[in-house]
Amino acid sequence: MATICIDPGHSGLPDPGAVGPGGTKESDITWAVAQKLRDILRTEGYQCLLTRCGDDPQSDDLAYRVRLANDAAADVFVSIHCNAAASSQAHGTETWHCAGCTASRQLAKLIQAELAAALELTDRGIKTGQSLYVLLHTLMPAVLVELAFISNPAEEELLRQESFQHQAACAIAAGLGKWLAAEAE
Ligand SMILES: [Zn+2]
Repeated sequence: MATICIDPGHSGLPDPGAVGPGGTKESDITWAVAQKLRDILRTEGYQCLLTRCGDDPQSDDLAYRVRLANDAAADVFVSIHCNAAASSQAHGTETWHCAGCTASRQLAKLIQAELAAALELTDRGIKTGQSLYVLLHTLMPAVLVELAFISNPAEEELLRQESFQHQAACAIAAGLGKWLAAEAE
């Protein structure tokens, strides 16, 4: 069975990530969704590795996170974040992958499709970037999901809801499952 590395964005301490207008910390949401995702994947028989445990200062070092994933020879890496923008109107879900990596692109497509269907927010699609450290330096296929905009009051409210967090975790697990099944063929 595959080993899946789950990367809950931001360390909590000292870095809460983005903070919503209602005071919600991105690091709390990413940790909650990561734990739910871990529980789902373990139930499905996958090995899981988390790059952060609660509020975890050592995880502030992204090189530390990448080292954990690479040293464990994880098969796939999923980073969980919430988006933020200067405009409180910005909204929707998107998934990032490294440019030029076909496997990561396919994984991003599958996860984004599941997230868009489950969360019913604006589908911002998949995006490529070369500046996201954890995508650049992990040795395995890797994606980074931006679940919704914590800077948007309506989406911040959704992100706080346990049912929304659970749906997001289920959607990521479903996308991962489809990708792993296709890889195994
Ligand atoms: Zn973030």
